[in-house]
Amino acid sequence: MNIVIFGGSFNPIHIGHMIIAETVSQLPDVDEVWIMVSPQNPLKSQSGLASEEDRLRLAEKALERVNGVKVSDFEFTLSRPSYTYKTLCELKRLYPQHEFRILIGSDNWDLFSKWRNSEEILRQFGVIVYQRPDCRSSGPFPDNVKILDGVPLILLSSTYIRNKIKEGKDVRFMIPDVIYEDTLRIYGK
Ligand code: ATP
Repeated sequence: MNIVIFGGSFNPIHIGHMIIAETVSQLPDVDEVWIMVSPQNPLKSQSGLASEEDRLRLAEKALERVNGVKVSDFEFTLSRPSYTYKTLCELKRLYPQHEFRILIGSDNWDLFSKWRNSEEILRQFGVIVYQRPDCRSSGPFPDNVKILDGVPLILLSSTYIRNKIKEGKDVRFMIPDVIYEDTLRIYGK
């Protein structure tokens, strides 16, 4: 299968993540998108970061009924920090039958050459970049980079949602219904 890895802290998952994951999972050359929840760094106290179990559970529940999008805790078991290249190599070792690529926004593509083993990621795996209107990347792009233009995006971040919840404001339309109460319980403390 052709698998696309969409990594992040998902603190918490929101409809912006879900729209892009669903859209990419429907591309003709993609079988599944795996939402890869990043682990907590035990050496760094990241204030406002919910536990990895809570973030994973919210993402799983949000995507329970979504075909073609899976949630993975694969990085929880890897040594830290979990560099993308290492994750991809481990995935390939465990699932040699699958092809893996990563999905990033154009804001991240502009920094991609600074990533550890970025050349190897391109050579051995591949990258899908979705253009963000506020920060479009211009080519030329190397082989093994697929550019997605015109995917429906909304200007929303987990930080925005966490702040609104702290202020006691409603964020009902920014988070799927099935995880709304759980999200308020976790981030409203
Ligand atoms: P935070 O505000 O905590 O930094 P975030 O909303 O940016 O969180 P991440 O968990 O960092 O979410 O994101 C995971 C991935 O989703 C990243 O590749 C990020 O660029 C992408 N992403 C985040 N928000 C959106 C959005 N509204 N539309 C499309 N992609 C998004």
